[in-house]
Parts: sequence; structure tokens; C-alpha cells
Amino acid sequence: MSRNKSLDIKQKQSISFLESLHGCKKTICIESKEICYSCKGNGASLGTKPKPCWSCNGKGKVQFRKGPEIRENECQKCKGKGKEIKSKCGACDGEGMIIKAREEEMDFPGYLKDGGEIVFKGKGHLCEKTNRKGNLIIDIEVEPSDIFERKGPHIFSEIELSFAEGILGSSTTIETIWGKRKVNFKGLKKVDHLMTLPKYGVYNYEKKAYGNHYIHAKLVPPKTITSEMENLYKELSTLGM
Ligand SMILES: [Zn+2]
Ligand SMILES: [Zn+2]
Repeated sequence: MSRNKSLDIKQKQSISFLESLHGCKKTICIESKEICYSCKGNGASLGTKPKPCWSCNGKGKVQFRKGPEIRENECQKCKGKGKEIKSKCGACDGEGMIIKAREEEMDFPGYLKDGGEIVFKGKGHLCEKTNRKGNLIIDIEVEPSDIFERKGPHIFSEIELSFAEGILGSSTTIETIWGKRKVNFKGLKKVDHLMTLPKYGVYNYEKKAYGNHYIHAKLVPPKTITSEMENLYKELSTLGM
């Protein structure tokens, strides 16, 4: 039997950059079709009962002859429900179903991508005929990070260092997706330098492996140059630097 997609609920959920990597719990509001609490699904007002539809004899379908064949159509009178409701239930307007909002805490796995989706089975609308539930499909929106960029399992970030820090070395605290870490930059010979922190990237649950964290270290000239600094640079220039 093919799944009835009209029973699925689609909604968006935005999560932070770090939540998308490590997974999280989110309380989300789900509005799903359920059996009406007042009439228990029969669509009739309190103290009354629906009668079988006179047009289809309660079958919900009517037969007609087309040439030698006998065909069936949905009953127009009761719209296939097979019953006639004289006094409709006020809560559901005779439909037997209502939209009920509830809050549920859901587990979001890690390693989620922006634009990806998660399917929670059996959290969608209830089908009154089959008594089965559709799925809840969550479209994921990942809020971008100010610090990190992600490419697959790898993380990229940038840091600016002074010439002295880059050449003489400096123990600098940097942010990783696993918390703060001290990194020593020393002897950088280029203005742009890519440093690798192996296995400091995202954990890929399918491959059971960590990506890397790549730090793009940029050496930046001083913002202001004092006369003392100018004299020192003059000395350096005599050394060919
Ligand atoms: Zn009702
Ligand atoms: Zn009918």
C-alpha cells in the first residue's frame, strides 16, 4: 500500500550552527489532525448519533450501470462517509476530526545540513479510515556561525596575527567546535598560512570519522606605527626584511 502523503506534516525548524553539528533536543509545536474529543469521531452533536446515509444505504458508495459494467462512485450526498448527521458536532463542525496542537521534545541528530530534512515517523496527521498516522517532516535551517564555516566534515576559521606573533610564536586561544584550544603559531613565513587541527572537525555518524579544523592565519600589519616602531623597521630593512 502506498503511503498517503496528505497525512504528512511539513514544517521548518531553525537550529544554531553548533546544534547542527552535535545534535540537540528541541521542543516543537505540532498541529496534527486527530479524532475529535467531543464526538469521538462520529461528527454528531452531544447526545445524538449519525444515521446511515439514505442515498447509499450507509455504504459511502453508489453503484451505477455503464453499458454491461457496474461501476461505483463515491456517494455525493454523504461524500463517502456513509452517514447522515442531522445535528453537527460544534467542536469539529461534523468532520469528526480536529486540528490539535501539542508540544513535543524531539531529538535532532548531529551532522545536519542547511536545507536538509529529518523525518519523524508516525508524528503526522491521523487517517480516520486506516487509523494510521503520517510523518512529521522537518526542514532544517542552519543559522550561520560568525566564527566557523563548514565544508562537509571539515571546519574552517580565520585568525589575525601581528607580524611578531606569527614570526616569534604565540600561544593563542582559538575557538573550535569542541571548545577552546590553545594553538602555538610560530615561524610563519607567509602572510597567509593554513594550519590543520586534525580530527577537530565534525563527526560524521555514517563514516564514524572526524573531519579536520583548518585555521587560516593571516599576518596583518600594525594599525598605527609609532616613531619607535619606525626606527625598528628601519633596522630590520637593513637586514633585508
Ligand atoms: Zn466532533
Ligand atoms: Zn451516502
